[in-house]
Amino acid sequence: MMNRLNAFFKSLLLIELFKGMALTGRYLFARKITVQFPEERTPMSPRFRGLHALRRYPNGEERCIACKLCEAVCPALAISIDMEERADGTRRTTRYDIDLTKCIFCGFCEESCPVDSIVETRVFDYHGEKRGDLYYTKAMLLALGDKHEEQIARDKAADAPYR
Ligand code: SF4
Ligand code: SF4
Repeated sequence: MMNRLNAFFKSLLLIELFKGMALTGRYLFARKITVQFPEERTPMSPRFRGLHALRRYPNGEERCIACKLCEAVCPALAISIDMEERADGTRRTTRYDIDLTKCIFCGFCEESCPVDSIVETRVFDYHGEKRGDLYYTKAMLLALGDKHEEQIARDKAADAPYR
């Protein structure tokens, strides 16, 4: 009987409503922790593992020497490489594809690369509308490397003391 009376007076005096409004009021003046993406971004680690890219040396030469270590180490079998030998005896890829629908962003490819060619950038806001959109070819990966080289080089330098 007392419980029912309690509930009756609580609902009559709108106690729950005022409790809820007090909670809302408390957060109204608290420090905001949401950010207005994409104009605002949260801090990001130099080790962030986002979209892949292939890098070049400053003279424009591709870094990748087609050793296929990244292809061998990839646990998702997401990387496909074909290669050929040039007239000067160096090896270069003729095909370097990553199927991002398979990739689990483990970073093993980046870790295994002896020449810092394949890297994972800070880019995470990309999408595909069909499966093929997430199949990145060598040309696409090199273009991403060219576009983000400055940031990639800064991140590599920041991480260098810990490697
Ligand atoms: S991040 Fe991992 S899963 Fe993705 S391509 Fe590299 S090695 Fe494969
Ligand atoms: S990206 Fe690096 S690990 Fe992969 S084939 Fe090229 S040189 Fe080797």
